[in-house]
Amino acid sequence: MSQDGAAATATTTASATVTERVPAAVDRRISGPQPPANAIRNVNNNNGSRTDKSNSSKNGNGALMPPPPPPSQVLPTDSSNRIRLNPNVDHKPDSYEDMELELGFSPLLFSSLERYLPPALLNASRNSKANYMSQILLRYSTEGERNRVQKHKEYRQKIISNYQPLHRELYAMHASNFFVPSFLKAVSENTVESFRSVMSEPSPGVFAFEMLQPRFCEMLLAEVENFEKWVHETKFRIMRPNTMNKYGAVLDDFGLETMLDKLMEEFIRPISRVFFPEVGGSSLDTHHGFVVEYGMDRDVDLGFHVDDSEVTLNVCLGKQFSGGELFFRGVRCEKHVNSETQPEEILDYSHVPGRAVLHRGRHRHGARATTSGHRINLLLWCRSSVFREMRKYQKDFSGWCAECQREKKERQRQSVAATKLELLRREGEAAS
Ligand SMILES: [Zn+2]
Repeated sequence: MSQDGAAATATTTASATVTERVPAAVDRRISGPQPPANAIRNVNNNNGSRTDKSNSSKNGNGALMPPPPPPSQVLPTDSSNRIRLNPNVDHKPDSYEDMELELGFSPLLFSSLERYLPPALLNASRNSKANYMSQILLRYSTEGERNRVQKHKEYRQKIISNYQPLHRELYAMHASNFFVPSFLKAVSENTVESFRSVMSEPSPGVFAFEMLQPRFCEMLLAEVENFEKWVHETKFRIMRPNTMNKYGAVLDDFGLETMLDKLMEEFIRPISRVFFPEVGGSSLDTHHGFVVEYGMDRDVDLGFHVDDSEVTLNVCLGKQFSGGELFFRGVRCEKHVNSETQPEEILDYSHVPGRAVLHRGRHRHGARATTSGHRINLLLWCRSSVFREMRKYQKDFSGWCAECQREKKERQRQSVAATKLELLRREGEAAS
């Protein structure tokens, strides 16, 4: 299912530690009664690098790190200075986001690896740590892996320096021009009550609300059309947004990254902090922003899947269409992704232009066929590197996976039943 990208076609994510790689777009069979598509997928963006922060704006003139010293200098053979087998979970790693260009690897990989540094290095300067870790990574990662971040950066740079935007006002956050007043008011009040007052929750964990002004939707649609036209005219090979959509465009790739980062930080994170705290809602720190297009001459529908995000914002931009309902079927962890849907988890939702749906990335969902017209949605996959790091050490996800929750309750029920039985037995013994 993976689509060809121009620069990088790999679909693995590079967020994991060096010992763990997360496969993308894994098909799994679903048992029991399910929505039409019968295989659930993990959808990833095509870009192998999981982090979507380009540092072009933040780091353009930054000083490059000096070339790393030869290995003998940074990798002492003395055993106390070797990398540790187990991470120091109490250590709070530095952020390497602004060093992406120099590093040549995902900055998140550096933050993850930092916990494994020899104790003596843990509090060294960020540059020393980065040097040390670069040496390790260069020895173990493949050529392809090493080049991917760099390739994607060049790809983005090439687009941004050649593409002429149509509506420049879209490229910086102008909240009062973008959002409807009710949404702005709720976010500025920033309370559970204020959010609840503008949102409906048609099924637990799925929130729907008025969000974008019609004018903003029109401008964004025109901008995407303009970008597609440029792609067509210049025959530029673009990467599609993820492993399941053939049509659509990554907004971050043609300059909208800064604006979308603001959207996540100032609007989506406050809401997620309230409604999705157990999946890293308060620590969302990177995003993948894109549009997808549905219609008879586009992608028609979208199979049952989970997103590569902690929280997903899905806003309908237009245009005229029929069909295309979203269906939701409950939140599941990786282990339970194919487990049966409970009746109360079934939700079919009709998208309306300007309205947003916000849900956990692990909320299983899909889209039915758009039977006429064109339906275009803005998607913002919001991620938390802290949550992803923590998840590696956990097995029980009863905080958010409905199936883990059911299993836990069942274990408790059985334990209570066993205790009761034991008490009855003892009473019987005492009586006889
Ligand atoms: Zn589970």
